[in-house]
Amino acid sequence: MGNRKTQKWCLQASNMVEEQIIGRDVKDARVLAAMTSVPRHLFVPEEYEGSAYIDRPLPIGQRQTISQPYMVAKMTELLSAEPGMKVLEIGTGSGYQSAILAAIGLRVWSVERVESLARQAQERLRSLNFNVSVVYGDGRNGYPNEAPYDRIIVTAASSRVEPPWDQQLLLNGRLVVPLSVMTGGQRLLMRENLERGFRNTWHDYCRFVPLLIGVD
Ligand code: SAH
Repeated sequence: MGNRKTQKWCLQASNMVEEQIIGRDVKDARVLAAMTSVPRHLFVPEEYEGSAYIDRPLPIGQRQTISQPYMVAKMTELLSAEPGMKVLEIGTGSGYQSAILAAIGLRVWSVERVESLARQAQERLRSLNFNVSVVYGDGRNGYPNEAPYDRIIVTAASSRVEPPWDQQLLLNGRLVVPLSVMTGGQRLLMRENLERGFRNTWHDYCRFVPLLIGVD
């Protein structure tokens, strides 16, 4: 029976990758492999297990959500990270994005402002053997204890690039963040720390829960 269940989610995960991710032009082979291999249904509340692989964000409690699979894949591709790199995530939530980063061989630190979510995500990631350190705190400060990072990914919508994120990024490092834009809504920003200064490029419009101030 356990076997049949494994077959079922593996099939759902490969369909998800085929239709929602390759279908929308994400190409990075490491990202596609990670999205196929990580059991997303173990990162959602039990009542949503049957919907874990659909093309939507889903509620995870505390008024927060696990991001839509495509957004996770797109942001991970924009990071363009190599195995062994150090990455900081802001907004652990369910821990799914962290698991994807760990699955491509990154060393991951992830900051979450809701204590119960941080604790659950850490337990879940540990039980699935993902190499992720979850930190309870306000990610607007980054996480100076482990800085600098090769990559920083923010998974809640911010009104600006917080100065500590720039400061904690290595030279040639990259930051990916959904920023609120003047025209309304949010847009993915990819920011590179180049020798001659920071360079911004703009990508998909998106819809994330807001980055909040302080801890809960
Ligand atoms: N990456 C998550 C989805 C994140 S939802 C996943 O894969 O499931 C956004 C998360 O950011 C929420 O859990 C929210 O509590 C958290 N968050 C919001 N503001 C924050 C802040 N200032 N510091 C750290 N986490 C924050």
